[in-house]
Amino acid sequence: MNSVVDWDAIVSGLETWRDGLPKNADGAPSVSTIAERYGSDAWAVLLSTVMSLRTKDKVTLAASGALLERAPDPASFLKLSTEEAERLAFPAGFYRTKIANLQKIARIILEEYDGKIPADMDSLLALPGVGRKTANLVLIEAFDMDGICVDTHVHRVCNRAGWLKSKKPDETEEILRRVLPLKFWKRINALLVLYGQQVCRPVGPRCQNCVIAEYCAFRRAERHPVTGT
Ligand code: SF4
Repeated sequence: MNSVVDWDAIVSGLETWRDGLPKNADGAPSVSTIAERYGSDAWAVLLSTVMSLRTKDKVTLAASGALLERAPDPASFLKLSTEEAERLAFPAGFYRTKIANLQKIARIILEEYDGKIPADMDSLLALPGVGRKTANLVLIEAFDMDGICVDTHVHRVCNRAGWLKSKKPDETEEILRRVLPLKFWKRINALLVLYGQQVCRPVGPRCQNCVIAEYCAFRRAERHPVTGT
């Protein structure tokens, strides 16, 4: 693992790469798309992020849009019948579980938080079906707070490149909170998700086309297993 990681150079390289992509390039990360579409409305961000888990971006956006049109706040969500909510959420992955969780969340928000989504990590993590990625996203997008969203792409690229060593995304987030400069916290997710989808893919990373190869331990080891040159 690298003891010193040049985050400025890495983020700069990734942003230059992203800015050079064709305008209609596919693969915009769902986190960014959701945030852009639903702005700073905390319920919309929370609902759509819950819907996005293990679901493709297009499906997430369609299902979230259908649900939010009928239920723009927790109170109206609880007025939907379970059948109707499930119909609107289909075909999002695990849509029945997600709807059940959202019903519980909406009830808690109304009963314990006067209808307002709480703006702190611990309260968000106590909600059914809400993990650190979702909680971070709500804090960042709805409340303009600092957070780091770590999903499978962020976790994989960081470990593969040798910027840190962790077993799970939550551990990656904890390490990044210590080593990643604050100015990059909100930006790192969108960059690494896109890069993880298009270049540093789970299987068959395109190392020949990588713009940050010089900062990657995996690439150095591939070039020369001993010296890394
Ligand atoms: S060199 Fe290969 S493994 Fe390293 S970051 Fe680039 S694509 Fe990923």
